Amino acid sequence: MSFAKATAQLRRLLGTRVATSDDALFRASFDGSKLSFLPEAVISPKTNADITTVLTLANKFRVPVTVRGGGTSLTGSGSPVRGGWVLNVSKWNKIKVDADAGLAQVQCGAIVADVHAAVEAKGWFYPPDPASKKYSTIGGNIACNAGGMHGGKYGVTRDFVIALRGFLPTGEFVEWGTATKKFAAGFNLRDLWIGSEGMLGVVTGAVLKLVPMPAARWTLLTAFANEAAALGAARKLFRQRVQPAICEFLDRESVICAERATGKTVFPGQAGRPVILLELAGSLAEVDDLKQDVLAWAQSNTVAFREAHSRAEVEELWEVRRKCSGAMFELGDSKLNEDIVVPMRNYEKFARFITQLKRRSKLPIPTFGHLADGNLHVNIMYHRDNPAETKAAEAAVQQLMETVVALGGAISGEHGIGLAKTPFLRLQHNPAQVRAMQAVKKALDPRGILNPGKMFSVVRIWKYPKLKLRLPWDHK
Ligand SMILES: Cc1cc2nc3c(=O)[nH]c(=O)nc-3n(C[C@H](O)[C@H](O)[C@H](O)COP(=O)(O)OP(=O)(O)OC[C@H]3O[C@@H](n4cnc5c(N)ncnc54)[C@H](O)[C@@H]3O)c2cc1C
Repeated sequence: MSFAKATAQLRRLLGTRVATSDDALFRASFDGSKLSFLPEAVISPKTNADITTVLTLANKFRVPVTVRGGGTSLTGSGSPVRGGWVLNVSKWNKIKVDADAGLAQVQCGAIVADVHAAVEAKGWFYPPDPASKKYSTIGGNIACNAGGMHGGKYGVTRDFVIALRGFLPTGEFVEWGTATKKFAAGFNLRDLWIGSEGMLGVVTGAVLKLVPMPAARWTLLTAFANEAAALGAARKLFRQRVQPAICEFLDRESVICAERATGKTVFPGQAGRPVILLELAGSLAEVDDLKQDVLAWAQSNTVAFREAHSRAEVEELWEVRRKCSGAMFELGDSKLNEDIVVPMRNYEKFARFITQLKRRSKLPIPTFGHLADGNLHVNIMYHRDNPAETKAAEAAVQQLMETVVALGGAISGEHGIGLAKTPFLRLQHNPAQVRAMQAVKKALDPRGILNPGKMFSVVRIWKYPKLKLRLPWDHK
């Protein structure tokens, strides 16, 4: 459907803030999923009034509007699947830290790593740390309720949002909460916006809660006989009431990928073993105390363990974790990148399921992730031009999602639904739950203009071609 008349009118009102060049349209047509759908215009609003103008006209002409931050979404939530207009808010990037109150006032387009740097310069810490932090924005993180490695101890984006400001899909300005830590005045629509994937409103600013910067950190690398042993051991550690700041697991295939990418042996003398990387953080006394418990646990639950003795050694260990994901493309040109969650009580069952899934599908399925909150990245690798592999990948993802739900887990822990997870939404939610979500959408966005075609319509993304291009965050 063409929205040429509406676009012409918008252009008359906003002038050069409306771009329609081939290059601008192409750049806004895809996100980190590399699924590409061309919009008709890309708008870079300068003022609140610009956003109201865009949304008012979009409602009048029923033009789809997709809000865009850093464009790093892995689910296609930022790809304008129904065309229309892309509202690029990435230039709204001011950051102000209130060092007395431990709060940060941040515009939606602020890059997460810049927020980290700004708050750390004042002795504060903002824990949510998606691996995309150098590219993703606070607005995008709020819209997807982004997580990261610190989730188990500190929580995810939702746990750090005090207040939000922005626009309803109808173009009206709203503020949910204010810059105070307590707020009990009325319905909590702030939390409705968090994780709404750009479908219930446009976030333009947020007040974020900060915590004191930990004074001490300590890092340990541990190796295990097999994946089930690793996950079982992690469960035992948490049972001891030890809360590591980070607890990252890499299965054997992920370790091999990381070794190829870095050219280094992850754990000399322990080749071919799954590993867990642990980090404790807190005051010096707290870390020293917990360290003794962790070392005792490592003695009786691991095959081998190794402390990092210098900052350089710590960096080397984290490099392994960061590089494993990109290196998986050695195993196949396509990846179904899942971010499921498994309850801790079912860790070993899940490890055995993944071993069987690899065997049955005959596909590499490197799996790594955050054991402190059960959020595991299961990467089904295949070659798109190979019909047998594509079919096996499609079957494997279906079995994965069914198993995760049967084990009491979640089909997504941090990436959201977007387009990629739409075939599985109804495994997680019964018809009443889906209807309730659709009713909320209808109430706030009666004309369905904000990010249509996502979440509820079933889209089988493996049937769509993916762009063959290297994005800034793709590893060499
Ligand atoms: C290499 C890599 C690593 C990643 N690692 C992680 C990780 O560890 N943890 C994790 O959680 N995710 C991760 N992701 C996924 C992605 O970075 C997150 O989903 C992130 O929150 C998206 O932010 P963005 O600014 O790029 O949003 P975009 O991709 O631009 O948009 C994502 C969604 O948010 C909506 N949106 C964006 N801005 C706004 C706004 N201001 N108001 C309303 N809606 C908005 C969009 O419409 C879209 O639906 C990773 C991605 C990559 C490429």
